[in-house]
Amino acid sequence: MAIPLAQSMKVINHLKEAKGTLFSFEILPPLKGANIQSIYDGIDPLMEFKPKFINVTYHREEFIYKEREKGLLEKIAIRKRPGTVGICAAIMNKYHVDAVPHLICGGFSKEETENALIDLQFLGIDNVLALRGDSIKTESTFKPHPEGHRYAVELIEQIGEMNSGKYLVDDIQLAPTDFCIGAAGYPEKHFEAMNLSTDLHYLKQKVDAGAEYIVTQMFFDNKKYFDFVEGCRAIGITVPIIPGIKPIKTLNHIAFLPKVFSIDFPEALSKELLKCKTNEEVNKVGIEWGIHQSKELKAANVPCIHYYTMSTSDAVKTIASEIF
Ligand code: FAD
Repeated sequence: MAIPLAQSMKVINHLKEAKGTLFSFEILPPLKGANIQSIYDGIDPLMEFKPKFINVTYHREEFIYKEREKGLLEKIAIRKRPGTVGICAAIMNKYHVDAVPHLICGGFSKEETENALIDLQFLGIDNVLALRGDSIKTESTFKPHPEGHRYAVELIEQIGEMNSGKYLVDDIQLAPTDFCIGAAGYPEKHFEAMNLSTDLHYLKQKVDAGAEYIVTQMFFDNKKYFDFVEGCRAIGITVPIIPGIKPIKTLNHIAFLPKVFSIDFPEALSKELLKCKTNEEVNKVGIEWGIHQSKELKAANVPCIHYYTMSTSDAVKTIASEIF
């Protein structure tokens, strides 16, 4: 007998029906070769906090060059992690919690995107977070697929078209999809944006194109989030804005997170981090800071707090047990 997937509900409806701040988190698919149990091992400890949805990140293939005969180089695409469709279906089957696959523009033609969306719809997964994705290591700037999308707004438009029954090729009458679309927002601005106000302008375009809620990039200074929300409201972005929180865990994170995510640590946090000599000490500071941020955000009645687990749930569990 087939096991039914969870009764899928839209993220926007979870947010509308919530009586208080919701808990959610995102997981990173493991490197290839692992199995689904490694995903469950990351999710199990967090289920006691009753997440309404769990996001699954997507990671683009990378390219390597292999030397062939006569000095010729062959470009080979390597995918390091499994894709999101199967993982989302497995999560919904096992936990009966909505899974939100991240869908990116990078590396995909419109046709491949449509096919992925058809698979998601078929499996009853009707939430997606629509993103552009970053450039790959061998490119200095983001290069769209020749048949794909340059910006997330175009991906959102494609999903919107499918939601109104318009597929790429109108050869047969097809049922419209019914995706709830989320988009990314950057309290400290996206690293490529000229300034925060152009970034907000493009964020509004994503909302106008059909994004029903926003999830933010991680930030460590709540004021940046509150100011960002105010800036969004001032230009007419009215959708829920979910703050994203990441507990700092290791000495490596101290240099890595500001560089990779283009974010600052506030002075009070950097002072504490500078005293740390070991990963354990950093982890302790990260948890304390995560609790402090989460308490303030919850007191401000944010719709949901979204935790970036990056595959390890222990720090998020400790924080969540103080908050939810
Ligand atoms: P866009 O909204 O397209 O914006 C990209 C840049 O272009 C911005 O500087 C923006 O100001 C500008 N811009 C936007 N529209 C226009 C326009 N029409 N004309 C000119 N400029 C424009 N990456 C992954 O690869 N996989 C993931 O799973 C993933 N998950 C993420 C989850 C969250 C919550 C967040 C915040 C980010 C995530 N990312 C992920 C990273 C994301 O893909 C990168 O930050 C990427 O560089 C930008 O994506 P975006 O969707 O915000 O792009």
